[in-house]
Amino acid sequence: MKTEIEKLNLEAIDDKIIAKAAAIIRDGGLVAFPTETVYGLGADAMQASAAKKIYEAKGRPSDNPLIVHIAEVSDLRNLTDEVPGKAVKLAKAFWPGPLTMIFEKTDIVPYGTTGGLDTVAVRMPSDPIARELILAGGGFVSAPSANTSGRPSPTTAEHVSEDLSGKIDMIIDGGSVDIGLESTILDMTVNPPMILRPGAITAEMFEEVIDHVTIDETILGIETKKAPKAPGMKYRHYAPKAKLTIVEGNIREEVLAIRQLVYEAIRQGKRVGIIATNETIEIGR
Ligand code: AMP
Ligand code: MG
Repeated sequence: MKTEIEKLNLEAIDDKIIAKAAAIIRDGGLVAFPTETVYGLGADAMQASAAKKIYEAKGRPSDNPLIVHIAEVSDLRNLTDEVPGKAVKLAKAFWPGPLTMIFEKTDIVPYGTTGGLDTVAVRMPSDPIARELILAGGGFVSAPSANTSGRPSPTTAEHVSEDLSGKIDMIIDGGSVDIGLESTILDMTVNPPMILRPGAITAEMFEEVIDHVTIDETILGIETKKAPKAPGMKYRHYAPKAKLTIVEGNIREEVLAIRQLVYEAIRQGKRVGIIATNETIEIGR
């Protein structure tokens, strides 16, 4: 399959390109597009066969459910019959944005999209390209990160192309995305709601809007035999193709150790990158 790449300018979104991409989605094909979190691999969420293509292109285990992306809050009514009051408040506060909420699903949502679960994950992204594409594509677009399963999530169209070129119909290149971190997943089928995956929105931010949230204990790194409630959390993620070394200690020791490692690697002809924080970047220079 040849993967078409189309550039889109955020300031003047070309309707013709959106229409072309939307037609691919409505026909059950795959289009990668930018969202404010990471690039997503979009397919019609209401077609089980389209969901199947996502799993194949990503090499994603089929029990790892997809998030359904909508562009209008009112479309939530098609996906679930039970929208708790707290969800309405959270949607007002954080949608469009990097929040995914889990609800009991309606019959029209295929099990192929929910990984066989009776619940559905829903998000409303704020990226204008994502919004236009969802609206034109039928209103319900499942979109996991547009990378091969296990690899880092893509924040540019080039990353998507490296991973998925030849396996998907189209890539919309809308430049680099803002957040680079997945949405926070909040289970609204339990009370108080439970964070199943940490992300851009924190527990403290939720608690400014609703009284209390809990966190799935299995994702806190505490020894437990239970499986995480978000099936995807049990899989390997963010695995770069490079060797990664974590250096821990006091800041001076860290800087020295990192310099040593870098020196050694460069002498061996390797390319090296250092991940630093605002506090450590200056001191490490
Ligand atoms: P991704 O779109 O690749 O960032 O991953 C979607 C995440 O949402 C995975 O960790 C899934 O396990 C999780 N997820 C999707 N649907 C559900 C659901 N119905 N219940 C719990 N977790 C879900
Ligand atoms: Mg992912």
